[in-house]
Amino acid sequence: MDQYRVFGNPIKHSRSPFIHQSFARSTNQPLNYETSLVELNGFTQAVNDFISQGGRGVNVTVPFKEEALEIADELSERARLAGAVNTLSFSHGKIYGDNTDGEGLVQDLLRNNVQIKKSRVLLLGAGGAAKGVILPLLAQSPASIAIANRTVSKADTLIEQFNDNRLSACGFEQTSGNAYDVIINATSASLSGKLPEIPVSVITEQTVCYDMVYGKELTPFLVWAKAQGAAKVIDGVGMLVGQAAESFTIWRGIKPEVNAVIKQLKASLAQE
Ligand code: NDP
Repeated sequence: MDQYRVFGNPIKHSRSPFIHQSFARSTNQPLNYETSLVELNGFTQAVNDFISQGGRGVNVTVPFKEEALEIADELSERARLAGAVNTLSFSHGKIYGDNTDGEGLVQDLLRNNVQIKKSRVLLLGAGGAAKGVILPLLAQSPASIAIANRTVSKADTLIEQFNDNRLSACGFEQTSGNAYDVIINATSASLSGKLPEIPVSVITEQTVCYDMVYGKELTPFLVWAKAQGAAKVIDGVGMLVGQAAESFTIWRGIKPEVNAVIKQLKASLAQE
C-alpha cells in the first residue's frame, strides 16, 4: 500500500491522518497515512529514510516547512513565493515541493460563499502563513490586499517580494478609517488567547472575518469580530482540510470531497 506521512515536531495532535484516511476511504484510494515525530535536527535524514522505504509523499508542518523548501529538487511557484513547503512528493528519483496552505484558505473562503473578487482584503500578520496565502489570494482578483503586522517592517519586506500594486503594508493602527470586505487573521495571536490590536472601525456589517486558528470555541479574534457586528465569522478548520485536499489531489490525482470531513472534524473538536 502507498505510504504517506506528516513530519513535524510536535506532531501528536495532528489531524492530518484522520483527514487523509477519510479522503482515502471516500475516493477508494488504497493508502496509509501516519504521523512521524522528527528530531529537530533530523528532517533531511527522515525524508531520505522514508524515500528509501518507498514512501510516496510527506506533509510538512512546524518547524520544518523552510527546510522542506531547501531539500526539494523542484518547487512550484506558490511554494517558492511562500518560502515554505508543506507538501513533498517523491517520484522518478526527485523531490517535488509545493505549498497548498494558500489554496486551502481560498477554497474555504469560496466554499463559505465569501467573495474575494474585487474585494478589499485585510490580511493580519506577516509570518509564514500570511506569506503563503498572498499569491493564491491575488489569483482570485481582489481589489486590494492590505497587510498589517505588529512589526511593520516585516509587512514591508513581504510586499517587496511580490511586486504587485494591489498590495500595501502598514501597522495595525494605520488601518483605522478604512473598511474591509474580508479580514483574515494570519497572526498566531489566537494561540495565546490574544487579539491583534486593530481598530474597531475596520469592521462593518458587510465584513467577513476569518481566523486561520481553530479550536473547540471561537477564537478571541472571531468573538471580537462578532461583537463588532461582522457579517460572518469563520475559523481555520476548513483551511486545514482544504490544504490537505489539495495535497491529496497532487499525490493521487483525485480531488476529495471536503464537506463531510470538515463536519466530522468540527464535531470532534467540540467534544474535546
Ligand atoms: P509565524 O510565527 O511565522 O508568524 C506569526 C505572526 O503572528 C507574525 O506576523 C506575528 O507578528 C504575529 N503575532 C504573534 N502574536 C501576536 C500578537 N499577540 N498580536 C499581534 N500579532 C501577533 O506563524 P505562522 O505565520 O506560521 O502561523 C500563523 C498562524 O496561522 C498560526 O496560529 C497557525 O496555527 C495558523 N495556521 C493555520 C493553518 C490552517 O490550516 N488552519 C495553516 C497554517 C498556519 P510579529 O511579526 O510582529 O511578531
